[in-house]
Amino acid sequence: MRIEIPILHTKFKTNCYIIGNKWNNKALIIDPADNLNEIVKSLENLKLKPIAVILTHYHFDHRIILNEILKKFKIPLWYNDEDCDIINKTKANRTLKDNEILRLGRKKIKVFKTPGHTSEGICLYIKKVKCVKTNKRIEGAIITGDIIFIDKLGRWKNADNFKELFNSLKIKLLWNSKFKKSYQIFPGHKRPFSIKWARNIFIIRNLELKHNFKI
Ligand SMILES: [Zn+2]
Repeated sequence: MRIEIPILHTKFKTNCYIIGNKWNNKALIIDPADNLNEIVKSLENLKLKPIAVILTHYHFDHRIILNEILKKFKIPLWYNDEDCDIINKTKANRTLKDNEILRLGRKKIKVFKTPGHTSEGICLYIKKVKCVKTNKRIEGAIITGDIIFIDKLGRWKNADNFKELFNSLKIKLLWNSKFKKSYQIFPGHKRPFSIKWARNIFIIRNLELKHNFKI
């Protein structure tokens, strides 16, 4: 099992991830963003065949080449379209549900809903992976979309969304007893970081909001 890239794109600098299984050469493309050539090249280099595209959420910068990539590989689109409030959205071929287990050969990928940045946001959790880019083994990897970054929380629209984001981050991700502090978070933008690091970002940002000051 490997978690590939992230590819840093020029325009929006959105991270695309490829989860590949080296035993059966099947792969999932997560958030294809805007660089088709780089994704095709990576799949060729790793000898992987994609079986689906997954969106962590439906924001434009995560799906610029979506239609091209679906057509090129003749693969389905999977995401949580059920909770997506965008009117003219492309329907998912498979609607991802909370706590659903996806299979890539014998390897399992767990889906869990994390609304707040968007209503349809999900995270993907994979146990024991090897990151091709750093050549490091990781005990647990979580692909999180835009709910948290190395230096700040993800954006939210209003107080209700903030409450959702707060709960998603606190309960489902950062203080989830199933996840160890060393697990790596792979965000939608910028570099990956550990859960331990993310907890500090979460605490500091909430203190700032509570006291209305910048540390
Ligand atoms: Zn977003």
